[in-house]
Amino acid sequence: MIKIKTKEQIELIRKSALLVSKTLGMLAKEIKPGVTTLYLDKLAEEYIRDHGGEPGFLGMYGFPNTLCVSPNDQVVHGIPNNKPLNEGDILSVDCGVLMNGFYGDHAYTFPVGEIEPEVKKLLDVTKESLYIGIDQFRAGKRVSDIGHAIQKYTEAHGYGVVRELVGHGLGKKMHEDPQVPNYGRPGRGKKFKDGMVLAIEPMINMGTHRINQLSDGWTILTADRKPSAHFEHDVALIDGKPELLSTFYYIYDALGIKSNEEDKFRKEKLILEDY
Ligand code: MG
Ligand code: MG
Repeated sequence: MIKIKTKEQIELIRKSALLVSKTLGMLAKEIKPGVTTLYLDKLAEEYIRDHGGEPGFLGMYGFPNTLCVSPNDQVVHGIPNNKPLNEGDILSVDCGVLMNGFYGDHAYTFPVGEIEPEVKKLLDVTKESLYIGIDQFRAGKRVSDIGHAIQKYTEAHGYGVVRELVGHGLGKKMHEDPQVPNYGRPGRGKKFKDGMVLAIEPMINMGTHRINQLSDGWTILTADRKPSAHFEHDVALIDGKPELLSTFYYIYDALGIKSNEEDKFRKEKLILEDY
């Protein structure tokens, strides 16, 4: 059953989402060649606790850490370790926060130093597909309209859309109904209405959509070992339209990137707080 949220509940989800956003912004400056993902994980856990939240992933379904860190051919659910990052890697960082009883959950794929142009294109197209999906989250549209739009856009670039992992409702639980696949035929599933909150999260592979899982029971990687990208935003449906609760602007602020990509999905201009 899809839980409809009150305005007050949406504001609490926004707070949790923004703490994830700030955490990712803090990490953006730290992600560089030579740094280990375990170090990033420690920084993130400290930062979240210092700002009044709890790591949302730690212990969930038995996951051992604060961050899911998935370099290169890893799609999602990578476990932090002591291996240093290399120039030219990409690193998908997925982070959750629990605060005031509500979850935030979002993700960004970072370049590590200079990356190959074809890998940069995978990141750009995957992020563009996230916004194309978000644009479908409107009153009267249906759940599968999101995945249909994401699939159409990314497959036109020759990429593979991961089937087995999906976006989801978000609230008092990290994973609520409905499941939001990133592929499929349009016009299927529940109709969207005000008060729904979704985590929309395309996972897009440069090659085949097929995946494998490592024997650690967590790490998902591409079957052809080509790179994979993952971008995730938390979005509420307000007055029939999608309203972004999370933001990549802390990341862009940290990296000196100019962007207004989110502005059309926010009623009021976002003012970045100190973080
Ligand atoms: Mg996530
Ligand atoms: Mg998620």
